[in-house]
Amino acid sequence: MAYLKGLDLPYNSMLSNASNYGGTRALSKIKYIVVHYTANDGDTDTGNGSYFGRTAVGAGAHMFVDEDSCTQSVPFTRVAYHCETKGMKFKCDCRNANSIGVEMCSDKVNGQYVITRQTMLNTVKVVKYLMQQYNIPADRVIRHYDVCGKLCPEPWVRVPSEWTEFKRLIAEPEKKEDGEVVETINITVNGKQIKADAIVKDGRTFLNLRSLENAGFEVGFDNATKMRRLDNKADELPIVVGNKDVYIAEAVNIKGYNYVPIRSIAQAMGKSIDYKDGIVSIKE
Ligand SMILES: [Zn+2]
Repeated sequence: MAYLKGLDLPYNSMLSNASNYGGTRALSKIKYIVVHYTANDGDTDTGNGSYFGRTAVGAGAHMFVDEDSCTQSVPFTRVAYHCETKGMKFKCDCRNANSIGVEMCSDKVNGQYVITRQTMLNTVKVVKYLMQQYNIPADRVIRHYDVCGKLCPEPWVRVPSEWTEFKRLIAEPEKKEDGEVVETINITVNGKQIKADAIVKDGRTFLNLRSLENAGFEVGFDNATKMRRLDNKADELPIVVGNKDVYIAEAVNIKGYNYVPIRSIAQAMGKSIDYKDGIVSIKE
């Protein structure tokens, strides 16, 4: 049993038969996550992983999820054949090439397919993990039904409130164990807009230090302080931004990540900050 960093669910890797998936793609091409169901009765993620591994069926999905684990069948760098159904009219620009396919294992109760609550909650975990990894907003998590009208996942087309509940759960901000809520905010640094993980603590905005790298800054720690671990309380953090040594006041470490007050980082860089229309800007 293995775990992926950031995914709180046992993870198995069982590569699909090579004829079941397509060519390579850049991870940056991934725009959508498409949720499916297997239309089986009591199947498992590993059972599907094994089946697609040994059987050439010309179809498949990246991930299978059941009540106790998930299995990856197709690498995310490869195109899976999961949502382009022949003869169907497309409702949006989601295709196999720009999406990740996630299959939920299903059961049959009184002649009707169901997705159990536990499988649904595990799919929330997998989808939230993928949203985080590939920067997919909740409104680009869709059903196969929303791609081309196919009745998939059938229980979530028949009972739309189950789909609504799933959408509500994936949109909830990540709750850290110590109660800090990490949210994604838009900030502008030197005119370039980036998305940053931030925590609002005591009315102040703390940025995940790694977000600055997305803005094109090289962030490093000098040798003397490399091993230094901040506590979850205000402390001074010496870092190197670009080729400049800066001292960030009141940095905190929350669950292994360094967070810095946005005001301190702007000051250390000799810049000012500006709030307008919900966007924080760091300016000259
Ligand atoms: Zn489907």
